[in-house]
Amino acid sequence: MSAILELSGVRAAYDRITVLHGVDLQVAAGQVVALLGPNGAGKTTTLRVASGVHSLESGRLRLGGRDMTGADPRDLARAGVCLIPEGRGVFPNLSVRDNLLMMTFTGRGRAEIEEIAFQRFPILHRRASQAAGTLSGGEQQMLALARGLATDPAVLLLDELSMGLAPLIVGRLYEQVAEIARQGVAVLVVEQFAAAVLDIADHAAVLVRGRVQRQGHPDGGLRAELSALYLGSSA
Ligand code: ATP
Repeated sequence: MSAILELSGVRAAYDRITVLHGVDLQVAAGQVVALLGPNGAGKTTTLRVASGVHSLESGRLRLGGRDMTGADPRDLARAGVCLIPEGRGVFPNLSVRDNLLMMTFTGRGRAEIEEIAFQRFPILHRRASQAAGTLSGGEQQMLALARGLATDPAVLLLDELSMGLAPLIVGRLYEQVAEIARQGVAVLVVEQFAAAVLDIADHAAVLVRGRVQRQGHPDGGLRAELSALYLGSSA
């Protein structure tokens, strides 16, 4: 399977303090890759580099085989990279419909965006007139995903989708993420707590202090290792 998103030897720093020390990671179309690891390991920074929000010190970023090293966030967004940050990034005072409507900047029409959103997340249709801030955490995450889908992403970067949500809701959201991947999107998911994402991931990488310590199929061995090393019983 050829990679859509490819990070090779990525080093990144904040104020000259290096936090990524040569990260190699690949995500193919239709694949869900989980990037796991403890607090401060560099997971969010990896997503920031992949979306162009944070520049890399050295290494390469490729998209669909094209070298995009040093490209700015706008170019990467145009090339199909969509970052859904931790905290979801929805506008709490705007209605669900208006949150979606804003995505018409992508060139897609309102009807098409609503169709994409409401077909995948029917609850958003029922909540269309409600202020986004009044939605449950899970519904807000659905809205964030729907806004992301409106950009027709080739690569979806998800940061801590499970944050503050009940396990049952997280499981349902990840089923939708798996479905999005099945439609051909390359999905890179960052999570500190692994259980739900490992159920849908095709591949998992464990980042520790800015280095990929282990990667492979999320089989029993990897789960056991995660459980023992970083994630306590939650893995
Ligand atoms: P978390 O789950 O806590 O966000 P993470 O694995 O996503 O952890 P990062 O947020 O990428 O880790 O942080 C990696 C390292 O970079 C940490 O040591 C963190 O303190 C540091 N760091 C992150 N953002 C900044 C920043 N804006 N300025 C300075 N240092 C930062």
